[in-house]
Amino acid sequence: MNYLLKPTKMTLQERDKKHLWHPLTQHQLHPTALPIVKAKGALLFDEKGNSYVDGIASWYTAMYGHCNPYILEKVTAQMHTLDQIVFAGFTHRPAIDLSEALMEILPGNQEKIFFSDNGSTANEVAIKMALQYHHNNGEKRSTIVAFENGFHGDTFGAMSASGLSVYNGPFEDLLLDVKRIPTPTNENIEEVLAQLQKLVETNTIAAFIYEPLVQGANSMRMFSPVHLDKILSLCKANNVLCIADEVMTGFGKTGKHFASEYLQEQPDIISLGKSLTAGFVPMAITSCTQKIYDAFLDNSIGKAFFHAHTYTANAIACAAALAGIQLLQSPEIQENIQRISAAHTAFNSRIQDHKKVATTRQIGVIFALDLNIEMDRYGAKRQEIFDFFMERGVCLRPLGKTIYMVPPFVITPAELEKTHTAIEALLEIV
Ligand SMILES: *Cc1c(COP(=O)(O)O)cnc(C)c1O
Repeated sequence: MNYLLKPTKMTLQERDKKHLWHPLTQHQLHPTALPIVKAKGALLFDEKGNSYVDGIASWYTAMYGHCNPYILEKVTAQMHTLDQIVFAGFTHRPAIDLSEALMEILPGNQEKIFFSDNGSTANEVAIKMALQYHHNNGEKRSTIVAFENGFHGDTFGAMSASGLSVYNGPFEDLLLDVKRIPTPTNENIEEVLAQLQKLVETNTIAAFIYEPLVQGANSMRMFSPVHLDKILSLCKANNVLCIADEVMTGFGKTGKHFASEYLQEQPDIISLGKSLTAGFVPMAITSCTQKIYDAFLDNSIGKAFFHAHTYTANAIACAAALAGIQLLQSPEIQENIQRISAAHTAFNSRIQDHKKVATTRQIGVIFALDLNIEMDRYGAKRQEIFDFFMERGVCLRPLGKTIYMVPPFVITPAELEKTHTAIEALLEIV
């Protein structure tokens, strides 16, 4: 059987414009999108056969490389066996295998796995879990604490916790009650702790949600685990649940499986997404401790967690995630992480004193630099820089004046060098 779409002389770009609405896009200013027809390893290919090094692993998803053959094999096998089954009342091997694989690598206090569809819903689940945890325990705690300028996603709960105004500005009056504290620095940490102390004393704080060590959407801002540990200790001493949003930082990007491993204090709840399923299919996970799970146990149904998405624990997505975790633990990928980290460090020493570089920062395979120029986060200059990189066969998406890389672990030394060289070339012309 074969079905053909209507023949057309229109290009993909023209057809795209007719019916498609792209995310984070002001279509009046940016009417065209570049069609990508193929991707392999660290490379993206357009219709003309031009290739681009995917310097951000397609928003940190395809970390084992696009169309990774091992994951493809596992996903294909799963597709032939079981695609989808209602996860209320039924279970399946891929979800069970995945839960066991995650327990081996997650922080030791994590015991239970709840599935959803994307990073936003993983955080939505985390926030609801935290709110209902206190409700089930008979405590009235309905305020969430979050960092200023954090990003946790675009659904209402996740958006409420996010501090970037272009995302949530229009909805400001409709959001959850969220109190914000500054991201800690050596200068402000005492002040941050004092602010937090005041908040926790009200006994109304349900949870603190944070991106551990790296705030992705906030221009890859990084902060010290020592400071974060102090914040988490204060939360824990006051029955405030700690939610680590590892949607971006999870699965090896910081040099450890999870950024939370750099900390002494372990989170009560962890959100996972993005590279969890290696860029193949969407899925997300919220993990939690036994203590949280137990607060939902009761002889009446009222205390249960009534949250479900139709595709909860989709078997194909679970197979992709399981294969991804197997790759993450392989010596090859671990060596690649070391290699990329070392190459970034060497690159840093090449450029850090350049007059156009204000600051640089790195953890694991995540590298960011701030340009020493004034720039709008969404202005014309940003577009020029994006185009400059694309013309050089490198896909990097500047966040305002921040240029950052989160390359797939399988990027070759030559592809990585091409990315570094393109950034060096940019420094000469900005
Ligand atoms: C991307 C991201 C999210 C949202 O994930 P989606 O899959 O886009 O909904 C949440 N938190 C962090 C830290 C992220 O980087």
